[in-house]
Amino acid sequence: MTSIVSKLPQVGTTIFTTMSALAAEVDAINLSQGFPDYDCSPELIELVNKAMKDGHNQYAPMAGVKALREQIAYKTEKLHGAVYNPDTEITVTAGGTQAIFTAISAVIHPNDEVIIFEPAFDCYAPAIKLMGGIVKSLELEPPDYRIAWDMVKKLVNSRTKLIILNSPHNPTATILRKEDIEELSAIVKNQNILILSDEVYEHLIYDGETHHSMARYPELQQRSFIVASFGKLLHATGWKIGYCLAPAYLMQEFRKVHQFLVFSVNSAMQYGIAEYLKNEDIYLSLPGFFQQKRDHFRKGLAQTGLELLPSYGSYFQSVKYGHLTLESDTDFALRLIKEAGVACIPTSVFYTQGTDYRVLRFCFAKKQETLDDAVNRLIEFKL
Ligand code: GLN
Repeated sequence: MTSIVSKLPQVGTTIFTTMSALAAEVDAINLSQGFPDYDCSPELIELVNKAMKDGHNQYAPMAGVKALREQIAYKTEKLHGAVYNPDTEITVTAGGTQAIFTAISAVIHPNDEVIIFEPAFDCYAPAIKLMGGIVKSLELEPPDYRIAWDMVKKLVNSRTKLIILNSPHNPTATILRKEDIEELSAIVKNQNILILSDEVYEHLIYDGETHHSMARYPELQQRSFIVASFGKLLHATGWKIGYCLAPAYLMQEFRKVHQFLVFSVNSAMQYGIAEYLKNEDIYLSLPGFFQQKRDHFRKGLAQTGLELLPSYGSYFQSVKYGHLTLESDTDFALRLIKEAGVACIPTSVFYTQGTDYRVLRFCFAKKQETLDDAVNRLIEFKL
């Protein structure tokens, strides 16, 4: 037998895969992994079907179907006032995770330092490590998970190559505010630091708040990869389509990796989405659609004894439960799946050190009856 040395010795199967599998096994209501339990629009399916029937069944251009890149450019300018050239600054990817991996591998050299904020989505650190980069993480704490920018300043040095941001944030459902943008701008000014901005929940933002995309701020925009997801926008996470925006000098490097990682993305779906997005209501109506789900779910959860944290954006609602039990968040989440029949995600898994604030994350991108059933099970369980 030959042997190998693992490049990611600490990594197992993702929490999302684990929890979804367990939920299926014990027939629990799955509010763990973030995906809708309702279907995407039949009209969109028709349009993708039509694209297949029209013969769009061979490789798409490496950067993505032009009509789709043009739609993305239109949407970005309309929402954020930023102009991206579809030929040189927009690439369609096989989902947000591929875009994140591609951006990190395009710019991180061995020993480059990357600042991330924890709890952090689970794909950032492994991609950095695979490239030989060094993860510098800063822990954020409930209930508000504010970024302590003076601590960020202390982490920055001549080896700092990249800062990864995520707003609306997974798992905490917080958002970057104007003050954060000002602090960030001051830190990167005149420094050779890039930004990777994970904005996959860009359209899921509530209470009339503004999504502070890096695209809105020229000083930040010119050093940023912005990652977005059609899965969230179209209620079709299984299609695994997203995109990346970046100024041409960064996109050129991004595409060098992209072309050898996936070459190009599913062609018919790109044609279908390009046509579908001509209706701007598709994205303009999303905040209202999800806010209604958030409010409904919060009202239900308020009757369970769990302590609700704010949810300003994303698919997620987090709760604290430390006043009910001293169990670890993983133990408690496992007990909720098995005994209450409701699956969620323990948030300690998003901290390198496994820091446990006894906070659980629930996904509310579900039918109203699914949310009601989950709430009823939690009420009956008598937390
Ligand atoms: N973004 C989804 C979540 O946070 C999961 C994506 C995945 O399973 N990789 O639940």
